[in-house]
Order: sequence, then C-alpha cells, then structure tokens
Amino acid sequence: MLKQFHEKGKGLIEENEVYGNSLAGIWVTTGSSPILRKNRIHSGKQVGVYFYDNGHGLLEENDIFNHLYSGVQIRTGSNPKITRNKIWGGQNGGVLVYNNGAGVLEDNEIFDNAMAGVWIKTDSHPVLRRNKIYDGRDGGVCIFTKGRGLLEDNDIYRNAQAGVLISTESHPTLRRNRIFEGRAAGIEITNGATATLEGNFLFNNKFGGLCLATDVRPILRENRIFDNQNAVERAVSRGYCLFKISSCTSFPMHDFYRCVTCNTTDRNAICINCIRVCHKGHQVEFVRHDR
Ligand SMILES: [Zn+2]
Ligand SMILES: [Zn+2]
Repeated sequence: MLKQFHEKGKGLIEENEVYGNSLAGIWVTTGSSPILRKNRIHSGKQVGVYFYDNGHGLLEENDIFNHLYSGVQIRTGSNPKITRNKIWGGQNGGVLVYNNGAGVLEDNEIFDNAMAGVWIKTDSHPVLRRNKIYDGRDGGVCIFTKGRGLLEDNDIYRNAQAGVLISTESHPTLRRNRIFEGRAAGIEITNGATATLEGNFLFNNKFGGLCLATDVRPILRENRIFDNQNAVERAVSRGYCLFKISSCTSFPMHDFYRCVTCNTTDRNAICINCIRVCHKGHQVEFVRHDR
C-alpha cells in the first residue's frame, strides 16, 4: 500500500499496515495536512514517511521501523507535528530534516538507527522536545551545514558516536537536555559551528562531556558536566594511537599535528602519540584541537 497526499489533501490514515514499498511509504506534499495515527510503517526500500515541499499534518503514535532510508524525512518548508511515535531499526537515520525543513517532534522514541537518530541539515530549524534518542549505531543528533533548531528536555543516551554533534556553521539552541552514557563525546562542536547551551546535563560520556574544537566559543549557561570519562587523555598518556579507541571513520576530538618532514597535509590528523613514535625526530607542528 502506497499512500500519497498532494494539493491540500487532508484525510485520516489510522491503524494501517504500510510496508515493503519501493518508494516512500507515505508521501505528504504541497500544502497537504493529513492525520496519520497508530499505523505500522515499515520495511520500505526508501523513506517511511516523507514530508516534502510544504507538507504538514500530524504523525501520532505510529510504529516506523526498518527502512533503507530515514524513517521520517522533512524538507523544503514542511512543518509537521510528530508525536509519540517509535522510529527505530533504520538502515540510515531516524529522522532527517533538511533544505529548510522544520517540524515539531515531541515525546518520540528514536532508537537503534544505523546513522544519526535525528539529522538537522541545510538551514533547517525543527523543535525537539522530550524525545528519547538512544542506542544509535552512530550519533544521537547530528546538526550540519547551517542547521539550527531548538532541543529541549530530550534524553539522548547510549549512542555510539557523539550525543549531539554540531558542525559546519550550525547554531542550534539546547536547553535542559540530558546527554549521557555515550560511547564518544556528550556534545562536540566543530567546523565553524557554535551553539547556545543552557541548563543541560552531560554525564558519563566516554570522550568527555563537552568537546570544543579550536576557535569554537558557544554560549554556555548553567550546564552541569560531570562524571565523564576521559578516554582520549588516557589513551594519550598510555602512548596509544587514538585510532585504537575509535575507528578510521570517527576520530575523537583531540590535538592534532602535521609532519613537515613527511610533508603530511592538515587533513591527516596525526595524533600526539604517532608524532612521538612514528615521527620521532621529525619537524612537526600543531594544527588544532578538532575531530
Ligand atoms: Zn595516531
Ligand atoms: Zn614525519
């Protein structure tokens, strides 16, 4: 079953099984605003629910899982309300908001996705409140390329990469979120991004609570950052290469260097221990603290 809503379409879809589609399971486009409630939307070859070109409407208490692309995509002026859904087991991200997408996401559970639980990209500005974003196989929330958005009172935990990664000229506001038990950093900010962080709790994350690249200066008010592990500093003090505590695809934030003797570029992040061992006696220079 493939459902499409166009041109001011309204309507109610309730308690259906929507699965195995080769395109999006449900398309919501061009000013339409349907109500989608208590459906099982799963195992599609693309997106589960796609809000496209000013799609609106209400997505409530659906079970959205096992899609090849994102469970929910919101783009180009779309502004749906998304509440009390489970969005999980995706082979890509949970929710992708991009190209000036918005949306209000409240009280959802977003878990066990292969990429970010929520992606906010390219001038998008959704509101996320009281969601649980957990057990991701990548980051919890990733905000890239002038992403903005407001995150309030979310629980973001046990994700494999940063709880919240903020990059490339993004500037979101985070208030009173609890970001914890991550297998990387709590919050990482890099690549010319900034953030307004107020009253957040960042604790028991493996690579530290708040990791800021050189020249990143967020606005910080009354955040509590405690009981985080410092796996990066420990690896440095034991002489391990930082690849050993991460992987080739995701380096933890750390001091990195280039080797003038070997003529490496700034792109190759050489960690301090490789500088001390493999590049011993070479002419080296500090590049920056970054990921
Ligand atoms: Zn190294
Ligand atoms: Zn060298």
